[in-house]
Amino acid sequence: MINLCAIASGSNGNCYYIGNHHEALLIDAGISARQIMARMQQQGINPAKLKAVFISHEHSDHTSGARVLSKKLNIPVFVTSRTYMAMYNYHRPPAPRFFEPDTEIHVGSFIIYPFLKNHDAAEPCSFRVMHNELSIGVFTDIGSPCDRLRHHLQHCQALFLETNYDEKMLWEGRYPWPLKKRIASDVGHLSNDQAFELINGPFGSRLQLVFLSHLSAENNTPEKALARFEGLQDRMKIHLTSRCRAGDVFHFYSKTEPALPADRQGTLNFK
Ligand SMILES: [Zn+2]
Ligand SMILES: [Zn+2]
Repeated sequence: MINLCAIASGSNGNCYYIGNHHEALLIDAGISARQIMARMQQQGINPAKLKAVFISHEHSDHTSGARVLSKKLNIPVFVTSRTYMAMYNYHRPPAPRFFEPDTEIHVGSFIIYPFLKNHDAAEPCSFRVMHNELSIGVFTDIGSPCDRLRHHLQHCQALFLETNYDEKMLWEGRYPWPLKKRIASDVGHLSNDQAFELINGPFGSRLQLVFLSHLSAENNTPEKALARFEGLQDRMKIHLTSRCRAGDVFHFYSKTEPALPADRQGTLNFK
């Protein structure tokens, strides 16, 4: 069994929780450490379960809580050396654990596969986290899907997937032209349409649960993102994430495990 929760998701901060009964990881820590711990506790998750934080890239919506969280909980922060050098000084963890993309990292009973993605950062990585036979993807901040992404996607049963912007809202919106071009570029962000195309194809055939993530406050709405994925609802569960609060905790079981009944408000079983 694996527990999944979007602690924070959006252009103003990202933090994704993946845990089991007794240990857990965060992918990114882009809101304050105090907020991360408060949101975990609101969802009945004990922050003491955290064993590590992984940083995808240096943009502050992914790093701002990393230093303090690492010190408070005395846990390692895994980051590439180039990302570490590109981070703000005051976000840098005191004792970083450097990793190389395309290597396999073991933390407790989790195996983490970091791999390079297309984004305008020093050494940006996406992650696939494996636990028993389940694979969870955390795929945000992607200008354009690449073969590495498709390779890892085809193993995933659950996914935090960027749906950053609605094309029409972006191009008709009030952002300056260079910023619009940067967001829509191959090293910017994934639109609702691009994200849909990615998982609607053969590489998304194992997916059972998808969290629409990293929505722009300016160029998207939850309703538009959800509407774009409506056609997939009979094949997989589609859920929104929020920038303002932690989402529900999903208990995700592999096919061979018996599902337990939901025992707490805000806790959902999914099989
Ligand atoms: Zn970014
Ligand atoms: Zn971001």
